[in-house]
Amino acid sequence: MAVSDHVNLEQFMEGVERRNPGEIEFHQAVYEVAVNVFDFIADKEVYHEYQILRRIAEPDRVVSFRVCWEDDKGDTRVQRGWRVQNNNSIGPYKGGLRFHSRVNQSILKFLAFEQTFKNSLTGLPMGGGKGGSNFNPKGKSDHEVMRFCQSFMNELYRHVGEDVDVPAGDIGVGAREIGYLFGQYKRITNRFVGVLTGKGMEYGGSPIRTEATGYGTVYFMESMLNRVNDSVDGKTCLVSGSGNVAQHAVEKINHLGGRAVTLSDSGGFIYDPEGIDTDKLAFVKDLKNLRRGRLSEYAKKFGVEHHEGRPWGITADLAFPCATQNEISTAEAKTLIANGVKGVSEGANMPTEQQGIHAFTNAKVLFAPSKAANAGGVAVSGLEMSQNSARITWKEEDLQKLLLDIMTGIHDRCVEHGRSPNDDYVNYVKGANIAAFIKVADAMLAYGVV
Ligand code: NDP
Repeated sequence: MAVSDHVNLEQFMEGVERRNPGEIEFHQAVYEVAVNVFDFIADKEVYHEYQILRRIAEPDRVVSFRVCWEDDKGDTRVQRGWRVQNNNSIGPYKGGLRFHSRVNQSILKFLAFEQTFKNSLTGLPMGGGKGGSNFNPKGKSDHEVMRFCQSFMNELYRHVGEDVDVPAGDIGVGAREIGYLFGQYKRITNRFVGVLTGKGMEYGGSPIRTEATGYGTVYFMESMLNRVNDSVDGKTCLVSGSGNVAQHAVEKINHLGGRAVTLSDSGGFIYDPEGIDTDKLAFVKDLKNLRRGRLSEYAKKFGVEHHEGRPWGITADLAFPCATQNEISTAEAKTLIANGVKGVSEGANMPTEQQGIHAFTNAKVLFAPSKAANAGGVAVSGLEMSQNSARITWKEEDLQKLLLDIMTGIHDRCVEHGRSPNDDYVNYVKGANIAAFIKVADAMLAYGVV
């Protein structure tokens, strides 16, 4: 086929939309990658001939299943579970499980697609997958969560394995849920293997897995700033979310001499101009992780403002969206730019709307897309898999160094493929997409048409 015979980007996206009706999050994720990859492969016949992008955008399989469990009143509850195995060209499927009332197939397909690229960027041998359920753990007792997790694993265990697919946590799936899921896997299969990551330290977990995503997101920002002779030191930072990623982003901002002034949850955001220091962060960890409370309590305790909505109207140097997808609208991106934001590093998955990303890159804001900026979590999960296979635990200081090296490596690969020859501005979105694509695509070429 001659290059001129190939479908163009619009035709490609029409096909994606036709084959995946109504799955708007998935369309958005594919478009964001395709827009860069189409440019890159324009003169690379082999990628067209073997339909590499089309194949990556078609999950290897989507498993959907019923999950029945009994609540504390003895009533039968029915939920839906999924595992999306997107691509295992460079290693076993790997990606988190999300429990949230609004989880659906489109969201999990978008996350599994993104995960394929993110995992490739880490340089570790991991393919891409994602899963979850529309089960909402909020307000449920520990026993209800346990019964749900056990029932979920009664089906999931058939599809996962240490060399097949290794799920982890995500929104709504933390240490408690991973414990219940791993316990049930072990009970059903009678095998103690690294089938899940994010495990407790007593049963095969890795040091610094909990901190890795938030720390990595800030390391990536530091690398972007260092490249232009600047740093996080002394910068005012907006952070959204108040869960695992947000808490550890704040912790690392503090280590590097920055000042985080906001945190958010689904009830609104707090604005603390003095900065969320170590003691206040300890309060947040206790509030969110142990008491599962609301940030409005922080506002009362420390006498600061609590507002509805999101924190992007506050003037600051840097922004770290660490809550959920599409939490920076195009209008909010423009507000951040108008207020002089210098850098945005995405801790959450796909938190910025597509036009918002264009606004940031057009304004030459240093913008780190989630697939690069939050890859620290899955990178340490990959290191947890290695430790489990070898049945050893590495030292914390060695893992800290590895995390920093991996994030620096991802940054440098993005620069290699995203730097503009005209003004030295780095489009990290383009750089991440192309660097990640090349590795997966070349492995697929090696296998032929399979
Ligand atoms: P958590 O469940 O620990 O925290 C999520 C936070 O986001 C909570 O504060 C939650 O508020 C808030 N939030 C969720 N949905 C909304 C919403 N619609 N509006 C406002 N706030 C909301 O999750 P994590 O910190 O682990 O994950 C956060 C993001 O980072 C997700 O996008 C996840 O996919 C991504 N990520 C996480 C990784 C990890 O290692 N944990 C790895 C890579 C990506 P509330 O308390 O009210 O629920």
